[in-house]
Amino acid sequence: MNTHDKNDNRRKFLKNVFTAGAGALAVGTSTLLAQVNEPQKTTKPVKEKIKVLTTDGTVIEVDKPDNNCKINPCTPQKGIEARKGIPGRSFVMVIDLARCKNARKCIEGCQKGHDLLPDQELMKVYLMKDNPESEPYWFPKNCFHCDNPPCVKVCPVGATFKRTDNVVLVDADRCIGCKFCVSACPYSARIFNWADKESYASNSPDYSPETQTPSQHSVVSKCDFCPDRAREGKLPYCASSCPMGAIYFGDKNEDAVTNGEETLRFKQLIKERVGYRYLEELGTDPNVYYLPATNRMFPYERGLSDLSEEKKDILLKSISK
Ligand code: SF4
Repeated sequence: MNTHDKNDNRRKFLKNVFTAGAGALAVGTSTLLAQVNEPQKTTKPVKEKIKVLTTDGTVIEVDKPDNNCKINPCTPQKGIEARKGIPGRSFVMVIDLARCKNARKCIEGCQKGHDLLPDQELMKVYLMKDNPESEPYWFPKNCFHCDNPPCVKVCPVGATFKRTDNVVLVDADRCIGCKFCVSACPYSARIFNWADKESYASNSPDYSPETQTPSQHSVVSKCDFCPDRAREGKLPYCASSCPMGAIYFGDKNEDAVTNGEETLRFKQLIKERVGYRYLEELGTDPNVYYLPATNRMFPYERGLSDLSEEKKDILLKSISK
């Protein structure tokens, strides 16, 4: 097969992905772009098939694995295993600011998935305005899973750590609640679990740093990129909850990101849409990229409609300075 044929094959495959409305993130060169077919209704049990893209650009059909696991081990890891990272992965997130309308479903999805209280937000949505002349826009912000994370450097007990798959996690079983990491993060990405002790399950044998559940009292928490869901080939809670498809997640090693509806080449997307990283000049090397809010799909006022008068007032004051 010549190069042109291979590229054509890939283009056709990606086009099919868009039109099929892919629902799951399948992580792996052979699986990131995989689409799961609906099982056929016959009297005989039929082995479910998935389409995968091989490294030479050919689309092939193979039997779907018996479990939903895309990465072994499938279950959330604990202790020392949780610190290793998923081999061969380089997770990355891209947030399209032109699509965000402050629906806040990313926040709700994250809170539900991580057993958080209503006032605990690992993803926040700010109203931003770059200069007096420009229009405001909505700006979702989570932990950026920096490659040079100041938070990790200051932790005195090694409770927060950087993994080989780019993910920065907190092990609540080690955290002593000193909050050095909270102060060190230049993006205010971390929160502290202040609420009444009764709101938390403590010292649970089920706790995993990959899920951050059950929530622990008096420890630091933050966005974890949902590596437990990546093991199952699923998007993080925020990305799968966003009704606008504003949040893409994927793997830099595979050069692919998806919002569950469309799968795109990461590098091409950043190049063509002039993607950037927030406060890049700090040297933290974040793994969250933003696509500028040009040609926005909604006027920013739409995002104010469901907010209380008090919240609305605070947000509008924040951009009037
Ligand atoms: Fe650490 Fe903050 Fe970077 Fe997250 S955004 S890795 S908490 S410095």
